[in-house]
Amino acid sequence: MSGPKNKQVWLNLSNFIADKTQDCIEFEIDNNEKIKEERFETSKPLQGSVKIFKSKHELVAHFKIKTEVVLSCDRCLKKIQKRINLDFSRSIKEKIESSEDIKISAINQIEILEPIKQEIVLNIPIKILCQKDCQGIKLK
Ligand SMILES: [Zn+2]
Repeated sequence: MSGPKNKQVWLNLSNFIADKTQDCIEFEIDNNEKIKEERFETSKPLQGSVKIFKSKHELVAHFKIKTEVVLSCDRCLKKIQKRINLDFSRSIKEKIESSEDIKISAINQIEILEPIKQEIVLNIPIKILCQKDCQGIKLK
């Protein structure tokens, strides 16, 4: 029923890390891959940017991503669209210490789809209603 489940999008930070003169790099994101999760499904591409900042002791990724998701009303199951604007940061670590960290691989790559999915989930209301006073599915 579901295709390959763990789609991944990797950014390669090797050159950036090696270049001592560079302290910020920006990756443009325009990803058409549909994300289908239990709670939502995207209906627009993921668009925006991921900026990586380098300081002496750490790397931080700053995400600015726009998309749109399709949700179903908890009462009547009608589909509703919700625009999502993400603006969040994550520390990049060799060893992750919290769910707020992104692990960097041995070849200096980071996977960005998983943190984006996590953040989309946080932006979805706990109670999804097509309208405030949705009456639910009408039974005759
Ligand atoms: Zn409804």
